[in-house]
Parts: sequence; structure tokens; C-alpha cells
Amino acid sequence: MSARVFEGLVGQTAVISALESAITAARENSTGQEMTHAWLFTGPPGSGRSNAAKAFAAALICKNSGCGECDDCRTAFLGTHPDVEILDVNGISIKIDEIREVVSRSAWGASLSKWRVVVIEDCDRMTEAAANALLKALEEPSSQTIWLLCAPTLQDVLPTIRSRCRHLNLKTPTASEISNYLQKSLGANIEEAELAARISQGHIGKARGFLKDPSFNAKRKKSFDFLFSVKSEGSAITAAAKLIEFANENAELRTSERNEKESEELKSALQSGARGLVSGGAKALKDLEKDQKARFTRIVKDEIDGVLLDYSTFLRDCLAGQGPFINSDLSSEIERISSQNKTGQISALLIKLSEIRESLTTNASQLLLVESFFLRFAPLNNGH
Ligand SMILES: [Zn+2]
Repeated sequence: MSARVFEGLVGQTAVISALESAITAARENSTGQEMTHAWLFTGPPGSGRSNAAKAFAAALICKNSGCGECDDCRTAFLGTHPDVEILDVNGISIKIDEIREVVSRSAWGASLSKWRVVVIEDCDRMTEAAANALLKALEEPSSQTIWLLCAPTLQDVLPTIRSRCRHLNLKTPTASEISNYLQKSLGANIEEAELAARISQGHIGKARGFLKDPSFNAKRKKSFDFLFSVKSEGSAITAAAKLIEFANENAELRTSERNEKESEELKSALQSGARGLVSGGAKALKDLEKDQKARFTRIVKDEIDGVLLDYSTFLRDCLAGQGPFINSDLSSEIERISSQNKTGQISALLIKLSEIRESLTTNASQLLLVESFFLRFAPLNNGH
């Protein structure tokens, strides 16, 4: 029976069992190899690598080894517990100053529990200088500090850092693992659980959102409305512009609150009585603005890619031609397009779409990329 705090780690039996042995060892002050001071969690997007790290942090400081209900567990997850620090990416990278601050705070030791836990999400985004600063801390571990690093793959992390960490890899959960979880833990019925599991493509947060968050469904519906509206060159260009605008609006929703809070906090920290900003204050504000812009750009890309990923599952359904479809709620559109077009045309577009998603990570124009996809989709949607 595993700790409650690990319940959301769907399909990660091996990872959970390693973490549970570590917790038992830590609790019993065992000198065995199960517990160590630095861990690296890798896994594809949506597999839950940072949730695994946060759950481990909670289980280490919770008096009941991760009950998932007490204040320690709750605040550990949020990063507001005095002994748990969660470092996420502010801008596009984690800078040396941020790592230095975390390292110097880690020297304080734990205050309420036995450990001081530092979670670094996206540690693949550390600058080289930041990575070297972290490496020094890992080489001279303090007895109380536990480092939990997260990255998409092992190759994203410097070998010198990698070699200091115990590595745990999370796999993409299968559709049936996700479906079981949604039924057991979220009380979904079998039909909606299976649809959510297929649509999410192994992304557990997406599957949960599909069931629980009405805005998630509204967003998905709107994305497919754009796609189905594409029947000519003109409508392809209009739909592309709308999709980009939509991605920007969604990114705005996701960032505005946090941006405002950050700016206000920084401004009040920089205020020195009636004389206005302290020296260097203007620069600090400018730097923050730059970081926020970089974050916004990253999230817009993320939004566009999310839509394109939905389109690619749709094209895969069209290619298959018969169910069970990933997007079973769109079966009439899938069957129409599938019956009106040759499989060669659909598979060529699917390949093109994956190239387009790849180009989205570069500085290529997002609008032109989306247009180029819609222009190729128009004849398929027309049946010509
Ligand atoms: Zn607890």
C-alpha cells in the first residue's frame, strides 16, 4: 500500500517503490543505499516528473510519510513549507543568481522537519554558470539538504550533475492506466474516462483537465472549430490568424496574474522611503519585464503546440479510418475526411505537421507555420 501522496503518479510503480524504500530508510536512519541527497527525475511532458519530486518532498517532511492531507503535505506541494523550496523557471532560463540564493538558503538546514528539500523544476534550463554553482553544492552536500532535480531526459542534464544524482525515469502512462486512475480516484464513468485517456495521449494533467475543467473542453472545441472552418486559401489564412490570437489570449490568461504579483513584490522591495526606487531598482524592474516577456513567448508557443498536437491525433484518426478513435467525439468528421481522401495525402500532411511542430521551437514565424499547415489541410477538408 503506497503513500497517498503518490496516488497521482499514474503508471509509475517502479518510481514509487524506489521512493518508498528511500522514505522508509530515511525514517529509520538506515545507512543503506536507498536514501541519497540528490535525485534526478526525468520523463516526457505530462508523465508527472515534477509531481513525483513534489510528492517525494512531501513524503519526506510529512510526519505520516506522505498522508497527502496534513498541512506539511499541502504546503510542501505548493512550495510554501519552510523546509521545501520549489524553484521553477521565471524567464527562459535559471540563472546563476537564483541557484546561488537557493544554495545559500539550503545551508540554513531544516526548521520544522528532518530535511530541507529543494525541488528544481526544468533543471535543463539552467545556464552553464548556474549548473556549475549547483554542482558545487551537490559535491559538498549538507547532511540535511535533499536536492530533487527534474528534466525531460537524462541528456538534458550535464554529465557532472547527472553522475551526482540517483536517476528515476517516469514513463508515459498507458491509456488504460490513465482510464483506471480517472475512474478510481476521480470517480469518472468508464466512457468519459476512456475518452479523456485517449485524448490526453499520456498526459495526465490533460486527462484530468478534460474531465474536471470546463474551460479545457471549450478550448479544445474552439481549436477544432478553427480546423474545420478551413476550406479554402482565404479561410486557411483567416483561421491561422485566429488561432495565433487565441494562443496569445490563453497565454495572457496564464501569465497576467503572476506577472502583476511579481512586479508589485519587486516594486515594494525596491522602494526606499520617499526617495523612490533604490539604486539599481530601475534595472531590476527592466530585467523582470524581460523575463516575463520571455516566459510569455514560451507559453504562447506551448499553447500553439498543444493545438497542433490535437490536430495530429485527429489526422492519425483520419489515417486509421475506423475506430476506436482517439477523438471519438469527432468521429463523423474523421469518417468524412477519411473517406474523401487517399491515405497517402493524410500521412503526408501528418509528416508535414510534425515538421511544423519542430520548427515552432525555432524563431520561425508562428503565423506562417500555422498558415502552411491550414493551407495543406484545406483540400483534404474539401475532399479535393
Ligand atoms: Zn502529510
